Amino acid sequence: MHADRGEQELAHSKLDHACLDACIDCSGSKCCGAISYGGIIEPPFLTAFDIAQIEKGLGLKPDEFSDLRKNPNTGNDVRFLRTNPNGGCFYLDSGRCKIHDFRPVDCRLFPMDIRRLEGMNKWVIYNFQHCELSEGDFSLLKSQMPPALSILGDELEDYASVPVPGMVNLMYSIISPV
Ligand code: SF4
Ligand code: SF4
Repeated sequence: MHADRGEQELAHSKLDHACLDACIDCSGSKCCGAISYGGIIEPPFLTAFDIAQIEKGLGLKPDEFSDLRKNPNTGNDVRFLRTNPNGGCFYLDSGRCKIHDFRPVDCRLFPMDIRRLEGMNKWVIYNFQHCELSEGDFSLLKSQMPPALSILGDELEDYASVPVPGMVNLMYSIISPV
């Protein structure tokens, strides 16, 4: 599946930019403040669309806000948002996301995700103890699925298959095949 930039812009406009109910009384320190390479919450994966949005929003080059990794499962180079040296997202400020309007798709989906499981891409939801999701939160997350897939486009395989070794310790439930 390949989406051109116009389709991605349209998909981005269809994303619900609201926060989850669960996040309102949660400082973000449990997820955004805890991310680290190899940690239970890995840094956000960046699609090419995310990179372009952050470049435009912050006036920075990709090497200034992201790190490259090789995905051994596809052979492709992939980028992840840079973290603070001691862990935690660089863009978390007093419990608020400083790039909320153009935060990566990976952030918008959490605690939902796509995982490559037994050769198939599946929507999963992490049983992350700090996320007390309401019915409305589940509906909001599910509404993000189609636009998120449009933005991921042909980067879906990298998104689903890139190893996130720390996150394998996070329990999850399967929602559906992608
Ligand atoms: S995603 Fe979960 S841990 Fe993160 S701020 Fe929201 S409720 Fe808290
Ligand atoms: S970009 Fe924003 S939402 Fe994403 S991890 Fe950083 S602070 Fe959290």
